[in-house]
Amino acid sequence: MARGFFNVPKAVNEPVKGYAPGSPERAEVLATYKEMYNGNVDVPMHINGEEVRTGNTKNITPPHDHQHVVGQYHTADIAHVDAAISTALAAREAWSSVSWMERASIFLKAAELLAGPYRARMNAATMLAQSKNVYQAEIDAACEMIDFFRFNVEYMTDIFKDQPASAPYGIWNRVEYRPLEGFVYAISPFNFTSIAANLPAAAALMGNVVVWKPSDHQAYSAQVIVDLFKEAGLPDGVINVIYGDPVMISDRVLASPDFSGLHFTGSTHIFKSLWKQIGNNIHHYKTYPRIVGETGGKDFIWAHNSSNALQVATAITRGSFEYQGQKCSASSRAYIPASMWEDVKGHLIAQSNEIKIGSPEDPSNFVNAVIHEGSFDKIASFIDAAKADPDAEIIIGGGHDKSVGYFIEPTVILAKTPTYSTMTTELFGPVMTIFVYEDAEWEASLQLVDQSTEYALTGAIFSTDRYIVEKASKALENAAGNFYINDKPTGAVVGQQPFGGARASGTNDKAGSAQNLLRWTSVRMIKETFVTPTDYKYPFLG
Ligand code: NAD
Repeated sequence: MARGFFNVPKAVNEPVKGYAPGSPERAEVLATYKEMYNGNVDVPMHINGEEVRTGNTKNITPPHDHQHVVGQYHTADIAHVDAAISTALAAREAWSSVSWMERASIFLKAAELLAGPYRARMNAATMLAQSKNVYQAEIDAACEMIDFFRFNVEYMTDIFKDQPASAPYGIWNRVEYRPLEGFVYAISPFNFTSIAANLPAAAALMGNVVVWKPSDHQAYSAQVIVDLFKEAGLPDGVINVIYGDPVMISDRVLASPDFSGLHFTGSTHIFKSLWKQIGNNIHHYKTYPRIVGETGGKDFIWAHNSSNALQVATAITRGSFEYQGQKCSASSRAYIPASMWEDVKGHLIAQSNEIKIGSPEDPSNFVNAVIHEGSFDKIASFIDAAKADPDAEIIIGGGHDKSVGYFIEPTVILAKTPTYSTMTTELFGPVMTIFVYEDAEWEASLQLVDQSTEYALTGAIFSTDRYIVEKASKALENAAGNFYINDKPTGAVVGQQPFGGARASGTNDKAGSAQNLLRWTSVRMIKETFVTPTDYKYPFLG
């Protein structure tokens, strides 16, 4: 089926495969995982389409099995950063002037390759090196990435269709959506393989050339993304991939006069420091750089006493513990009315007792390892502090063990004060902190939700009373860029819930939307007059 401008295929969400025991997709992904686990991948950088091996390598180890090496990736020195910038700029003329249909076709082909022959590899690499269970890998590395490619092509054509009026007759006004003049710098996080692919791809689709620095902790699946782009026909030099010291790389990239845009996803303090650095360099740039960043969160669940305790508990369990709480959208603070607390607590305990923790190689494990030792130590220190603090009580979990993998038990902390440290600090782990409020003070509790943190990424409210739903929605209007009513705050789907937060959580340019793609264009307005005037006098002159 086809629709829209120039007949692009209509974007539909990629169906999520089930991976049930005995299914062919489960057998294939587990066999691929095993092969990768026993193999030794060598991940080069990619500059001008060439594989660059510096010999300056770092090991890739599964977070759930950190003494086991599954490969290594090569890191850059300054000369590689310069080469990535200059080859991107050299590729710009051809890439920015090729028809948009050629660019669209590459990413549509990438989507189909990923839906088919690349699916098991992309998922297995994500399971192995980012410690995602098969379902979490499937919804990210396969489905969301496919959706980004398909929907962005459709959004691109929607943008092109937006043209000014041409009246009165005799003129033709039109706008060209040009790529930025220069190159885009994409910096991606570890936690979503799809985001890693989308940060360079969204800019490239709009005709930009890119220097992409993936997270060190996502290098394995980044290599699969590079292979996918290559097989889909992405020309050399359009997306150049470098690894290594992020400070050295960013200093060099941001010093280039041709730097024209930052597409960042990661933590808030790093985004703020990059923004500052761009500001300091502003006099050196040929153009004002576009700055797009999606950053941290302290995502909430708020329940009213008209809600259902089992639904609230289920939202907490899924929203806070899936992928070990390492989704930017993961709920990590909740506000529960006193009259419901015992029920919610009972359901939470029952659900967490069933949760299995371990390697993603065993699909029955709901929770796997957190990404690295630094993250493990940070989360464990907050849990241990809570154990010793009279203002906090560990209700569920609290255990952690890094002897084999970076495993942290799903943990629920009851906070006696609403601004207790784990109610306000992003830990990025499987830790939920709950504040119980007096039922009658529900309006004051909404203020706490709104005012306790600097973030505004995702949040959920639970109530069956429409007056309460409306009041809470209004009170929390600026507290979340993605707001959920009677649902967990995670699991945004491209094309359905465009994703992004405001306040300290980002520029809210909504990944997987036309708004995001627009940031990678600079409009040229063209007015053409068909019969050009020859008399300078207007009628009023008589
Ligand atoms: P991170 O900030 O540690 O790293 C992100 C990227 O920045 C990596 O590529 C890293 O190498 C790079 N980096 C690190 N230090 C840098 C520096 N000084 N200069 C330039 N680049 C630097 O984040 P992470 O641990 O990979 O991801 C987790 C964070 O990302 C969380 O805060 C999470 O909320 C956020 N996140 C947000 C969204 C969103 O859509 N809002 C999505 C995913 C992740």
